[in-house]
Amino acid sequence: MNSKIKDFYSNLSEQVKLGGKSVIVESGQGAYLTINGVKKLNFCSSHYLGFAEDPALKRAAKKAIDLFGFGTGYRTIVGTHTLHVELEEHLARFKHVQAAVVFSSGYIANLAALQTITDKDDIIFSDELNHASIIDAIRLSGVKNKFVYKHGDTADLEEKLKEAKKIAKTPKQNGKLPLQIIVTDGVFSMDGDLAQLPQIVHLAKKYGALTMVDDAHGEGVLGKGGRGIVDHFRLHGEVDIEVGTLSKAFSVIGGFITGKKELIDFYKMKARQFLFSIALPISDTAAILEAVKTLEKSDKRVKKLWDNTKYVKENFKKLGFDTGNSKTPITPVMLGSEELTLAFSNKLSENNILASAILFPMVAKGKARIRVIPSAAHSREDLDKGIEAFKKVAKSLKII
Ligand SMILES: *Cc1c(COP(=O)(O)O)cnc(C)c1O
Repeated sequence: MNSKIKDFYSNLSEQVKLGGKSVIVESGQGAYLTINGVKKLNFCSSHYLGFAEDPALKRAAKKAIDLFGFGTGYRTIVGTHTLHVELEEHLARFKHVQAAVVFSSGYIANLAALQTITDKDDIIFSDELNHASIIDAIRLSGVKNKFVYKHGDTADLEEKLKEAKKIAKTPKQNGKLPLQIIVTDGVFSMDGDLAQLPQIVHLAKKYGALTMVDDAHGEGVLGKGGRGIVDHFRLHGEVDIEVGTLSKAFSVIGGFITGKKELIDFYKMKARQFLFSIALPISDTAAILEAVKTLEKSDKRVKKLWDNTKYVKENFKKLGFDTGNSKTPITPVMLGSEELTLAFSNKLSENNILASAILFPMVAKGKARIRVIPSAAHSREDLDKGIEAFKKVAKSLKII
């Protein structure tokens, strides 16, 4: 082998050796996971509403497979199926918006949301803790004028909007003024805190900017019956671009964008992720549609999720854990040191509880934590099992 190529591969294997191993799951993604033949409580899942092993979703997917088999096409050629149309209509109605478009994942939806409507001379304002897919979307958009504001700090956002004023007033080559877009996660996944959406919308109006929120952890969780962060803050019609995922609370796969009809029609005409990548599988589309219909009919699951969340948070507080600034089911148990957090997570696993250790670089050094997420799939007994194990491990590590 050529020495340069050999070097390339040996460098890869050096780095791979440093990486962790992923666990291999032998079950579905319900309240418990089977790993190496052992059943463990799934205490850190983003399948918030317990749809992952839901019989009605399974039936809907099976029926679609019986009727339509496998494989779709490209949406603009012959890939738009009646179930795609039905899903988009239901999503739009559920979220009280004019229109929706679905993509093959939330990541892809974020790429489409920004790349399709921007060029290099536009301006983007982004929260410093935004999800990797937003960071990648900004890169892909090619926008030169990026302003990253301090996490959740709307005063700093306003500073950045002021800083950008001159660029915002300078016409682009096509004679139009640059577009300004403020983009934020709705729920920040490491802390479970919320974007200050009302203030962001206010600033956007004041400075003539569009707003975009990625509500991956808010869909199915926040707002009335799980309608998301925009509904939570009663900001209907005030956020321009709302991105969601269908892989978390909806437990299937896919992503979507909602907004005004002309915006969504434009995405369907121009988004490269829509034109040049395959449509959602029909069976998955059928399963998601069933989940949306279930939520349209009843908020039972959302209520149970919040009841379970309250129960876990109260019990953790009683045990003396610091659960940070979370406003959502995402419940960080702040431990600080990396070693302690790893030891804690390993001991939980020995007790057949799965709760992920969140370490640097996912969070800042010294801010390591265990991230717990209860779901609607958990019974009280399941939660008690988890809480009991936290107590036992914390005692053994002399934290409480
Ligand atoms: C999970 C997540 C995504 C990615 O969604 P997928 O459907 O898994 O691609 C995007 N943004 C945020 C904030 C997320 O938490």
